[in-house]
Amino acid sequence: MGVRTRIVVYAPAAAAAEAGAAAAYEEIGRLEQVMSDYRPDSEVSRLSAGSGGPPVRISQDLFVVLEAAQRPAAETGGAFDVTAGPLVRLWREARRTGVMPAAPDVAEARKRVGYGKVVLDPAARTARLTTPGMQLDLGGIGKGYAAQAAVNVLRQRGLPRCLVALAGDIVVGDAPPGEHGWAIDTPLLPGGRVVLADAAVSTSGDTEQFVEIGGVRYSHIVDPRTGLGLTTRAAVTVIAPDGTTADSFATAICVAGAEKGFDLVREHPGVAMIFADAGGRVVVVDPGGRIRSPADGHLPR
Ligand code: ADP
Ligand code: MG
Repeated sequence: MGVRTRIVVYAPAAAAAEAGAAAAYEEIGRLEQVMSDYRPDSEVSRLSAGSGGPPVRISQDLFVVLEAAQRPAAETGGAFDVTAGPLVRLWREARRTGVMPAAPDVAEARKRVGYGKVVLDPAARTARLTTPGMQLDLGGIGKGYAAQAAVNVLRQRGLPRCLVALAGDIVVGDAPPGEHGWAIDTPLLPGGRVVLADAAVSTSGDTEQFVEIGGVRYSHIVDPRTGLGLTTRAAVTVIAPDGTTADSFATAICVAGAEKGFDLVREHPGVAMIFADAGGRVVVVDPGGRIRSPADGHLPR
């Protein structure tokens, strides 16, 4: 996935741990060949290349990811959108050149973006991309899915006490021996740490990848509703029952903002968020949907 991968496994013997970790890495590599838009021969790239054509039968993995992506897309009115590829590419180019994408190019790209342009048929397990020139981009959901899949592989191999981290997308299995869970740093909370078992944590924000043009910082995350790189400078950590939800919701809430994030989290039992805005204000919503901080319970606007 082009990112640093970390796998931690507790096992009765070193050989079992090593074989398990190797299988988990292999699973991540397999999924990269399904989901990477950087690889022209990946399954998702081939699906995009056929956009505007008939429905295409796709793998179970790709179908599950695309279906999972439609949920935050619909619930945020398209703030999260895996069809944002044409826009993401314009902004990748801007990061490379330091030049703002031209307005007509943004307008043209936007015509090829929209989660409603993905039509899924669960019975036939097909996807149809309705508009030519579409480019799916699973960058906001794929690492969480792959980390979860790697944990699932370890569980199947009898190694449930494990952690898989793909950069900022972390999935943990059962707790280490004698512990309640895995202690995971949550830098958005000053001195923060959460202790979790059988759960996922993802963080999204503009901290690393951005371009500064005319004194404004544009993130690698785009707002598909405007076609522009995010300028809001929020960072979001989501804790969820599974990696796919944590990854996609963290990206979604970055774009949609704290208020919408609050609604999203409340709609989904077991999901929690930590939202930090540019002013350093932090809002924590626990898995019961309660705001726990700041004390006055006000959401930043
Ligand atoms: P990171 O990849 O930095 O860990 P994210 O999970 O937030 O962070 O994913 C960001 C990536 O998601 C971008 O690099 C791009 O590939 C893709 N993306 C950008 N904007 C959106 C969006 N509005 N909805 C869905 N995916 C997006
Ligand atoms: Mg994400």
